[in-house]
Amino acid sequence: MSFTLHGIGVSGGVAIGRARLVSHALLEVPHYVLPKKHVAEEVARFEAAIAATRADMDVLREQIPASAPSEFGAFLSMHQMILADSTLSEAPRQLIEEQQCNAEWALKLQLDSVLAEFDKIDDAYIRERKADVVQVVERVLKFLLGHPSQLSLPGVGGQQEILVAHDLSPADMLAFKQHTFAAFITDVGGATSHTAIIARSLNLPSVLALHSARQLVRDGEMLIVDGEQGVVIVNPAEAILAEYRLRQDQYALERQKLRRLISTPAATLDEVPVELHANIELPQDVQQALANGATGIGLFRSEFLFMNRPDLPSEDEQFEAYREVAVAMGALPVTIRTLDLGADKPLNGVTRESLNPALGLRAIRLCLAEPAMFRAQLRAILRASYYGNVRMMIPMLSNMQELRQTLVLLEQAKESLVEDGIPFNPTMAVGGMIEVPAAALMAEMFARELDFLSIGTNDLIQYTLAIDRADDAVAHLYDPLHPAVLELIAHTIRMADKTGISVSVCGEMAGDPHLTRLLLGLGLRNFSMHPAQLLAVKQQVLQSSLASIANQTQKILRGSEADRIHALLGKMNQVA
Ligand code: PEP
Ligand code: MG
Repeated sequence: MSFTLHGIGVSGGVAIGRARLVSHALLEVPHYVLPKKHVAEEVARFEAAIAATRADMDVLREQIPASAPSEFGAFLSMHQMILADSTLSEAPRQLIEEQQCNAEWALKLQLDSVLAEFDKIDDAYIRERKADVVQVVERVLKFLLGHPSQLSLPGVGGQQEILVAHDLSPADMLAFKQHTFAAFITDVGGATSHTAIIARSLNLPSVLALHSARQLVRDGEMLIVDGEQGVVIVNPAEAILAEYRLRQDQYALERQKLRRLISTPAATLDEVPVELHANIELPQDVQQALANGATGIGLFRSEFLFMNRPDLPSEDEQFEAYREVAVAMGALPVTIRTLDLGADKPLNGVTRESLNPALGLRAIRLCLAEPAMFRAQLRAILRASYYGNVRMMIPMLSNMQELRQTLVLLEQAKESLVEDGIPFNPTMAVGGMIEVPAAALMAEMFARELDFLSIGTNDLIQYTLAIDRADDAVAHLYDPLHPAVLELIAHTIRMADKTGISVSVCGEMAGDPHLTRLLLGLGLRNFSMHPAQLLAVKQQVLQSSLASIANQTQKILRGSEADRIHALLGKMNQVA
């Protein structure tokens, strides 16, 4: 029987193949009571499984291909840390001894109690860590149950396979990359879960949050995965298959054709030049940015250097990372965003408990509350500015006082470098992110004090529409085309133009080719996005005429109903 499932499409393209179900070890846990004389043996079996899991992860780490996205290493480190924690590696041992139960059951009991603790915390980021703990426990369980956790799923008879899982760990994803899977679908995972982040960097069709795919889909069934629409069709009819095969071929052909645009300068049909920059998380991402023809780094999310490690990176270590990017980009601009920790990116020992972390001590607010940590970063960025075209960008500004305080700290950092005889660029550009409606409304005031602005639409939408961007329960309300959002973007661009400074968009909107013309129509000339999106956006720029977009943009700005705005946008994307 054919049926369709709907979830969150995370990565573009279409895949057609046979379902390959990944078993959920937690469903298979047996429970039995042991004679007292076998308890020591059972403890030894538990410890052997922990050691085997640890060794398995070590091997995976060694096998990370140089081409793998940088997130793989970071996520694997997090799983290694979870495994090393005594709540998982030691507490079950006591349970085996006290309850004389088997190791699998002790581990499951311990997991239940850890998850109950997680449930008491109302924090989206912590909720996603819950999935990581489950994944680590599953890996240990698979060893206890005699199935090593590595996925070894060769393609059957040359047919494409689609992985169907309740959830996928980053380590599993690593194996997933090494096999020839065509796509993956999962029951859980928000748009910002680890799985979603990796999916985007792998650029494979994938659909998350399908809720019951693993229950409804059977091994070997034919699936169509449409990663763009977030749709999975199970047992499609021949006519549907033919239609999607056609779409698949078209998509592959389009990606192939896009490669030809790498060295073409980005300009509209009316010859207006447009800058297309890349967003990166770690220094090694620069290669992907250059390979896709980026003309600068518009957002270096520096906080990723601080994650998945027990200590803070020193000034020297940060300097080396920033300099590496500056040197690799040569004369092209490198925009280093100061730390954006807090909210969905907490850090042990730095961020504090907060009732509502997205509205709490986050980003620049946190840096100003931790001047010693901030000073090390400011000095590191300044030092790197000597080696390339480095610019500094301040996240989540909401009032002028934050900007003034930051500029004072920057001056102090400069003075200390002069005293130490360390070179830097004294005129390094400083910009601010417009991510809070208050900042957008007072964009002109910020623009007068800064060298450039960059609109962080991911947060601007979250704060304008009061929608947690990490919560998939309200994902349907997350609307980049909401009139209030468009007005704030348009206003910010107008104010930057009025004061004569440059403005970019570095949120996900900049990487969505369906929105390229609209943003051009709003006056945007600088886009920053994940490198995989660069060529598709460039193609849109090359096919757009500002003259014919202008009218349509004004109509869209006057729209108040979502349906009408979407229809107008569709029309705008049709005309050349
Ligand atoms: C944004 O908010 O749009 C942005 C680019 O910053 P981040 O996604 O890192 O919060
Ligand atoms: Mg942001």
